[in-house]
Amino acid sequence: MRYYNDIFHKVQSFKMQNTEKLPILIAKVIVPVPVMVFYDYKITDNQMAFIGQIVKIPIGKRLEMGIIADISNKTDCPLNKLKSLIIPDDSACLPKPYMDFIVRMSAYNMIPAGDIIKPILRFYDDKAPKSNDIFYEYVDKPLLSKLTPKRQILIDYLKKHGKTKGEDLKSVTSPAVIAGLCEQGIIQKIICPQTHSYKKPNTEFLKPKFGHDQITAIKSVRDAYDNINDTGFKPYLLDGITGSGKTEVFLEIAGLFLKQSKQVLILVPEIGLTQQTAMRFEKRFGTMPALWHSGTTDKDKRLIYNGITDGSISCVIAARSGLFLPFKNIGLIIIDEEHDTSYKQEEGIRYNARDMAVMRAKCENISIILASATPSLESYVNAEMERYEKLILRERFGGAILPDIKLVNMQNNMPESGKWISPILRDAVNDTANRGEQSLLFINRRGYAPLMLCRGCGYRIQCPHCSVWVVYHHKSYHLKCHQCGQSSPIPKQCPSCGAADKFTPCGPGVERLYEEVTALFPHLRCEILSSDYFDNPDALDKILTQIHAGHIHILIGTQMIAKGHDFPHLTTVGIIDADLGLNGGDLRAGERSFQLLEQVSGRAGRTAGKHGTVYIQSYNPQHPVMQALVNKDRDSFLDTEAQIRLDMMHPPFGRLASLIISGEDNKQVFDFVQILGKQHPFAEGITVYGPAAAAISVLRGRYRYRFLIKSGKNYNIQDFIKYWLSQVKIPHNIRVHIDIDPISFL
Ligand code: ADP
Ligand code: ZN
Repeated sequence: MRYYNDIFHKVQSFKMQNTEKLPILIAKVIVPVPVMVFYDYKITDNQMAFIGQIVKIPIGKRLEMGIIADISNKTDCPLNKLKSLIIPDDSACLPKPYMDFIVRMSAYNMIPAGDIIKPILRFYDDKAPKSNDIFYEYVDKPLLSKLTPKRQILIDYLKKHGKTKGEDLKSVTSPAVIAGLCEQGIIQKIICPQTHSYKKPNTEFLKPKFGHDQITAIKSVRDAYDNINDTGFKPYLLDGITGSGKTEVFLEIAGLFLKQSKQVLILVPEIGLTQQTAMRFEKRFGTMPALWHSGTTDKDKRLIYNGITDGSISCVIAARSGLFLPFKNIGLIIIDEEHDTSYKQEEGIRYNARDMAVMRAKCENISIILASATPSLESYVNAEMERYEKLILRERFGGAILPDIKLVNMQNNMPESGKWISPILRDAVNDTANRGEQSLLFINRRGYAPLMLCRGCGYRIQCPHCSVWVVYHHKSYHLKCHQCGQSSPIPKQCPSCGAADKFTPCGPGVERLYEEVTALFPHLRCEILSSDYFDNPDALDKILTQIHAGHIHILIGTQMIAKGHDFPHLTTVGIIDADLGLNGGDLRAGERSFQLLEQVSGRAGRTAGKHGTVYIQSYNPQHPVMQALVNKDRDSFLDTEAQIRLDMMHPPFGRLASLIISGEDNKQVFDFVQILGKQHPFAEGITVYGPAAAAISVLRGRYRYRFLIKSGKNYNIQDFIKYWLSQVKIPHNIRVHIDIDPISFL
């Protein structure tokens, strides 16, 4: 992780030395070092340098890889200190629009360009030897001596099978036998560059018959594409209710671009959705797209990197990081479930992949489609203001209709103490199973219980490193901190009153709900769908297949199951604690609750003829979020939310940024934030709130304080922060994180 202390100190150490025009050209190079500046190198007379070129640069005593971001005849560096760069003969050049994107993305989020590009360029750097395959082949050559039996076996094998991959010979013989025969020239070693096996998608493979709204949406994009003659920044909001066929529509639109030999990038909010979207792609185009996410092996990433830079791979489905792939000829970006907050990366480099995708589309001058059944307020407002063109799908595909929404007022329908399923919901689940259909019970809480309480003295167990309570996980019989991940056994004795075996779990989590359900319906098959239960994608795929086949009666899930899934037999959805997300005071709490509950509801009744019903258990049924859900009136809800944001000058009408300051010594951090608070510059239209202790005031043993910076839409909040931080000396053991457009305020 990079901290701004280092970066800004380095910025300051560059003194303006020389601003006159020079007789030589200077390359401004993105370096693999966490600094907010480019390093300057001289370009010698005999060198041909281009923006985007991957070059070698001396940094200290090392030779590192860098990328030319700009070429200029100015430098702030003393001329005699300028070093030369090395341009390798076979050096690659990244496309200019891509370079523009990286530079703008870095400046906007205040993250070093080197930190953005380094994880991707690793696959360029590693390219040479590791991506080669080694093969062996028999050479028909007179033998000078008698062969040992082992050698004979290998020769017979190669005669029979022809050229064989080295890896495949491991089961046939030993490396010594191979080496011996190579030495004698009886077999030959062949080194071939590895190539990927992704095929060109067949845009005519399985063309569906589209419904009316689908045709209109596709036609809008096709007409615009024909008119602007293949280039031009054009953002769309594909806004269609759950199950309306958005995926089919964006795949068809992707086909328009693929047909013109353009590359397409499809972003999904999390790794779990890549496979499912890829299968839909395969069904439509007859071939698998490339998948790029944290589970993709380095070997595959290297092949995909090569394939997208030489243009031989035409579609990538990716999680956030796919946004930084240097496509040769990109024509379209699709962001599925654009409202999803998982697009915001909170760890390491902080950025919002949805917003950055729009920035990339602008730099590349291409089309971008943001798809969602519950658009973010930002995108909704952009579409209302006609900055994005709306593509609207009003009905579910194939005659399925939206489920009925029933609010269950928990004030009057309380289950007995220690239980969470209301009698109405219990009967509905029972009836659903009797009809041979599935139910989904949703609770947005991992583990068994969110709190462990001592019955003797009321003590609550906290994480030793974070200011949060630990969650009891029944599966592992452990207490887990959901912030830092630390897990520990339940203490025998209460650390406060010393009583033995007095700890009791309080409140429901997904595991406790499972316990209640299995006690109520011992004859039905239930499964928990929570991230703690699936450490690999295969295990999840297996369960999903069983759900599709109707072998599971009741699914009990966290938000992992809320997104994107299409289960044909699922007709009843029960939301256990619908009020859970409404508290916390975060400016997006209402919006996010609505999105989540609407998405979960949208899993019900997706097949024509199987009508769905959703039971929302709430203690607060009059809340605008609950009313919007039950009245199916999303737009009025969003309009009201937009008005509140406008009144408050909150995003998207104003801008926010956070500074999060942390350190291990509470007094030192406290004193430092007081100084920082006094030092902030004054600029009309920009307000600084804080310092305040963060909601999670201790995280991983570090004490945390926050500032919130708020401004109107057209203020340069980044320059303000840069200037502010350049005015103070940040102690080396204090970290300052900058979060532009924060989503989390914890
Ligand atoms: P969304 O992405 O809006 O939730 P999907 O694209 O998943 O909706 O569509 C819902 C269901 O309807 C899927 O099973 C999909 O295969 C089917 N579907 C949608 N459009 C068509 C179409 N034009 N022809 C055939 N099936 C379709
Ligand atoms: Zn912790």
